[in-house]
Amino acid sequence: MVESEIVKTFSWVMGHRLAFHKIGCSNIHGHNYTAKVTVRGEIDESTGFVMDFKDLKKAVMPLIDEMDHSFMYHMSDRLMCDIFKENPELKSIQMTVQPTAENIARYIFDKIKDDIPVIRVKVYETATCCAQYRGK
Ligand SMILES: [Zn+2]
Repeated sequence: MVESEIVKTFSWVMGHRLAFHKIGCSNIHGHNYTAKVTVRGEIDESTGFVMDFKDLKKAVMPLIDEMDHSFMYHMSDRLMCDIFKENPELKSIQMTVQPTAENIARYIFDKIKDDIPVIRVKVYETATCCAQYRGK
């Protein structure tokens, strides 16, 4: 039995704000996010795959599509709650945790963990800043 890891990169654009933040991040802004999703498993002897990259994409893309061109905000953020209540046609995701890279990595991990053997999700807000989540 030989195990290996495969990694697929996903990208989307999304707005967010951290209302509690004293500098910069309390402003409404967005990022060109990138997520690297790592799956670990046994290499299938007949295919040579841990998992077909197409199957990995199929498992993750619905979530990426849900986040793309949306706005993610915390449930206690009254300003954003009011805006999205008054404009339900706008694409938004209300979170029970702050929409930081750390929590977005966790959000992605938790949403896909029952479908694929994910072991790590890394979320980049910029080319030099990322957070990774490996489950509990
Ligand atoms: Zn930000």
